Amino acid sequence: MPKRSAEAAHDSATGRVPWVRPQFDVDEALIEDIRRALSSGRVTNDGPLLRSFEQRLADSLGVAGCVAASSGSAALFLAASALGLSGGEAVLPAFTYIATLNAVLQAGMEPIFCDIDPDTWTLDPAHLELLLDEHPSVRLVVPVNVFGVPPALPAIDSRLRGHGAKLVLDNAHGMGSEQEGKRYATEPLAQTFSFHATKVLPAVEGGAVASFDARFLAEVRRLRNHGLAADPLDSTPGYNAKMSELHAAVALRSLQRLPQVVAQRRQHAERLRRCITEDCAALFTVQQVPPGVRSNFQNLAVVCRGAGVEQVQAELDARGIETRRYFWPALHHLRMYRDRFRLPVTDTIAASVLCLPLHDQMDEAVLQQIEQALRQTAARLA
Ligand SMILES: *Cc1c(COP(=O)(O)O)cnc(C)c1O
Repeated sequence: MPKRSAEAAHDSATGRVPWVRPQFDVDEALIEDIRRALSSGRVTNDGPLLRSFEQRLADSLGVAGCVAASSGSAALFLAASALGLSGGEAVLPAFTYIATLNAVLQAGMEPIFCDIDPDTWTLDPAHLELLLDEHPSVRLVVPVNVFGVPPALPAIDSRLRGHGAKLVLDNAHGMGSEQEGKRYATEPLAQTFSFHATKVLPAVEGGAVASFDARFLAEVRRLRNHGLAADPLDSTPGYNAKMSELHAAVALRSLQRLPQVVAQRRQHAERLRRCITEDCAALFTVQQVPPGVRSNFQNLAVVCRGAGVEQVQAELDARGIETRRYFWPALHHLRMYRDRFRLPVTDTIAASVLCLPLHDQMDEAVLQQIEQALRQTAARLA
């Protein structure tokens, strides 16, 4: 068994619980993969570890193919660019990480922000329908998996029928989540993943595009490698967004460990969610996980009712519990977009959401510390 630090989930010197704690299995097989890559000189450009990772990732998702990239941002940007929709409009939620917006902008598209569902905090299909009526020239829709909960893809897909816009899912949070027993939903043309250190499948840095469309994936692959074409005279401007062999070695190990990681996260998240709904419901509401969905609990998020979110953060911080305001500020409040978009649900959720600590290595003492801090905070502020 790989060795793990006793401090994995808890800074034992200070008694503080960090809100994320990247975990890697540093075993002999990983060291050997890295040693072999470095000593052979085969360190990047479609090497054997990368190919093996792409194949195993596709198998584990149940999808035709995957193209690994240098980051989740690069993956989304490559997917959007491969569609050749530059100059068109793209719908995305404002309640997401800024990387979703960056990818849309860098692919040359104009963003239109869509509101979210008040319970799941994912893209609201009814608001999407209104936006599509108002903006017939929308060419792309990018819903986002939020903290492990997928957006309502069948409802979104049915709103897009007859409209012609493409659907690409930002699934940076979704590795290991399931819907109706499947890890990969077939409605979107493509899904993109992040393997950043803070994500459920960490490769230090990394990402991937997954799709059933082989021609689309070939275009993603071409753009990932400087836009070079089989006939060099057909090349177009592309990017260097390759994943190195060293990152692929780490990604392969994390993919192997994924089932245990997700099982642990679910167990811890469900226990803490039970504590919140049973003992702290006057102050906190948990994110709704819709029927048929199994979240990977990329993040354990709550909405604070009544009390100000900063006050709740300060109470938890005083008890050694680190939290983060994800996603805040909502993207339509960036100064460059001020006052152009009205998103009332996004405003309510973004103003009051907090991500609590969650990692797969939390032990009983840490779980109890979090539960106690939540109960005490609810008793003081509710
Ligand atoms: C992490 C994240 C990304 C970007 O992934 P990186 O690997 O950090 O570039 C994109 N979208 C969302 C929602 C994310 O949380």
